[in-house]
Amino acid sequence: MSLPPLVEPAAELTVDEVRRYSRHLIIPDVGMAGQKRLKNAKVLCVGAGGLGSPALLYLAAAGVGTLGIIDFDVVDESNLQRQVIHGQSDVGRLKAESAAASVREINPLVNVVIHNVALTTDNVMDIFSGYDLIVDGTDNFATRYMVNDAAVLLGKPYVWGSIYRFDGQASVFWAEHGPCYRCLYPEPPPPGMVPSCAEGGVLGVLCASVGSIQVNEAIKLITGVGEPLVGRLMIYDALEMKYRDVKVRKDPECPLCGKNPTITELIDYEAFCGTLSDEAQEAAAGSTITALELKDMQERGDDIYVIDVREPNEYEIVNIPGAVLIPKGEFINGSALEGLPQDKKIVLHCKSGARSAEVLAILKNAGFADAVHVGGGVLSWVKAVDPSLPTY
Ligand SMILES: [Zn+2]
Repeated sequence: MSLPPLVEPAAELTVDEVRRYSRHLIIPDVGMAGQKRLKNAKVLCVGAGGLGSPALLYLAAAGVGTLGIIDFDVVDESNLQRQVIHGQSDVGRLKAESAAASVREINPLVNVVIHNVALTTDNVMDIFSGYDLIVDGTDNFATRYMVNDAAVLLGKPYVWGSIYRFDGQASVFWAEHGPCYRCLYPEPPPPGMVPSCAEGGVLGVLCASVGSIQVNEAIKLITGVGEPLVGRLMIYDALEMKYRDVKVRKDPECPLCGKNPTITELIDYEAFCGTLSDEAQEAAAGSTITALELKDMQERGDDIYVIDVREPNEYEIVNIPGAVLIPKGEFINGSALEGLPQDKKIVLHCKSGARSAEVLAILKNAGFADAVHVGGGVLSWVKAVDPSLPTY
């Protein structure tokens, strides 16, 4: 299905622009008209992180006239492995500003708009309404559903991408011409089931593979060339080096873009996606200790059994002295339970406290009533007990 161009062409290109974009201009499908459409286009990139970095670099180089960058985070050393729009000297700087500086360096003709705010239900409609197209580079489900819902309610297309370890996915969601994200994924995964990139890792270059698909689709939508990824999900396996696409149909019963929509305005996305399951929240209430409290227990010689429920490669990066590694999966399949000491108080921890709360719920169910977990996980241990240790 080909679609008409999303953006009207600008009146003209300057001599400088003709020189700069000459390799586009001599592609018959792009040509002067296509480049003028890019010049007139307003594209918003949600997030200047893993996907936003390559996306912004290539959108800028391609000559998209107005580029919005929304991000409220600051550049961290652990971002540099994949977020190539930022450099060493940007560590500690606001990502939106660091990204804007790189965009200006690549193409000073781009009008960069910095939105140094968290995207919320209070501002998303207002911010999105100033753009023709959204490129979604978010890494969490709450924002992802919010981006989808706002785009559908405003009737705007957006290019979605997601990355995890060696696996990437991308699609174009545009409810007027095809399905939306909710048609594909009506419900968010249960909290704690899908690890984030911070928990599970991501191959740096995967961001470039998926981010470049997103830019490719953005350019096609703006200029009206080719077959956009509307109604198709692109799945990329970097280990097998395989791309495949599957058809995604519009769900007539979709609560947002279906025949009888029940979602007609933005909802509470944190509550919809949950950060912790109800069971985990219940288990953690009154059974959460701080890293300093764990340190005190160890120094007093309390009879405790500290279990790290992360994965072996995470344990290798940094661990709490004395902690035994038993990954979360062994609690979920039950194999870890019989080996646990009955006569010691069990103290669980993970990276930041989410996985350990899920495991805590399993242990409480299995009768370990006095088990606790460390709020904030090993990250809070490093912060409060031994800042010389590495974090990730
Ligand atoms: Zn839908």
